[in-house]
Amino acid sequence: MSTLSKAVPQPLAPRMVPREDLNTFRIAQLQFDMAAEFLKLDQGLRQILRTPKRILEVSIPVKQDNGQVKVFTGFRVQHNVARGPAKGGIRYHPSVTLDEVKALAAWMTWKTATVNIPYGGAKGGIICDPKRMSKGELERMTRRYAYEIMPIIGPEKDIPAPDVYTDSQTMAWIMDTYAMVSGEAAPSVVTGKPIPLGGSEGRGDATARGCMYVIEEACKAKKINLRGATVAIQGFGNAGSVAARLLAEKKAKIVAISDSRGGVHNSRGIDPTKALRYKERSGTVVGMPGASRMTNDDLLTMKCDILIPAALENVITLHNADAIKAKIIAEAANGPTTPHADEVLARRGIFLLPDILQNAGGVTVSYFEWAQDLQGYFWSVEDVNAKLQAVMSRAFQTVFETSRKFHTHMRNAAYIVAVGRVADATTTRGLFP
Ligand code: NAD
Repeated sequence: MSTLSKAVPQPLAPRMVPREDLNTFRIAQLQFDMAAEFLKLDQGLRQILRTPKRILEVSIPVKQDNGQVKVFTGFRVQHNVARGPAKGGIRYHPSVTLDEVKALAAWMTWKTATVNIPYGGAKGGIICDPKRMSKGELERMTRRYAYEIMPIIGPEKDIPAPDVYTDSQTMAWIMDTYAMVSGEAAPSVVTGKPIPLGGSEGRGDATARGCMYVIEEACKAKKINLRGATVAIQGFGNAGSVAARLLAEKKAKIVAISDSRGGVHNSRGIDPTKALRYKERSGTVVGMPGASRMTNDDLLTMKCDILIPAALENVITLHNADAIKAKIIAEAANGPTTPHADEVLARRGIFLLPDILQNAGGVTVSYFEWAQDLQGYFWSVEDVNAKLQAVMSRAFQTVFETSRKFHTHMRNAAYIVAVGRVADATTTRGLFP
């Protein structure tokens, strides 16, 4: 029996296992444990690497437009800083939990290590429903949250960025709050900023562009022609909608897209630009002309060459892994696939490009943004994209070779690469005091 079989209970038929442990932090720990087994890491080192370094929970009182005060709960978790300052996005969503933020922070540690950029991992989140808040309420909540987490963030400590339902405007408010309180300009305290405030060319598209570079490498490795390949994308936000546009530019055929309200499909192809325009007007892709409705569940199991989950966690589980028909799954989202589903997909020969590799383009260009801010010297979009392509292609090759060397799937391989690097840094630094 392989190490894998020891670490992950072997999947039974879905009907016999109606429930899977979907706690994202325990999933993140299980993924780490598998790599630690492959690498035969020392038990003490495993304990250090599988737990967050620091957790901050804050209360955020915000005056609402109606004059009443509402108190939100926010988190910032720093998972590991062995290889550099902590780095990770901030998520605004009603379903944010501390365990989710801990998982996302751990995934950032492994992601920055997979693509070999000099950061650790962190994540933040506020339990809120941004769709029901005015711009003024969002600004006041963001600024108070930024103030509350200020003791632990900073250009050399922890550098936030956008995630689900946060954007460059959110980053501008955080940067301004930090600057007002510290008296420093400090553009490098956040990334994903608007370009006039020290943002980088290419950051807006970076996650999706990184996805596209990895998909191109995967298609070459698997001898699939990207031109004409059919693509289904769940989630039509920053990651999903830009991935749709970039892949359509490469002549792939986008056959289905979706958002939180549902999905649409057309086997002859959907024009991503028209879909985006429709979504901007109506708030959803559902109902766009020239495409038929479908559910988010059906999108995941439809016939296509490339499936891109680009929304939230735990959408590919034991319940649907057997029904997935895609040849490649490219995880633009963080944590869309459970460990049990990973095993089913690997057994069925589906080539899964794991989140910590697949969506690392965003943090890579965040790193470029931080480097540019620290130097006060800015690069052209061509330079940014060329450097991004070099990082993503090299990371894919390293992970692909590792998967062959260890005879395991791409997620385990990415973790073996990442955990190995962080373990080396931790051991070399030694234990304080
Ligand atoms: P976003 O807020 O721009 O878009 C999220 C999209 O998901 C929206 O279209 C929304 O309608 C859809 N969605 C929400 N709930 C859904 C549901 N239950 N079913 C189907 N669709 C749903 O967020 P984003 O930045 O595109 O992030 C999407 C994923 O990509 C997240 O997992 C995020 O962590 C990951 N990611 C984003 C970046 C980045 O730079 N933006 C980087 C790395 C990873």
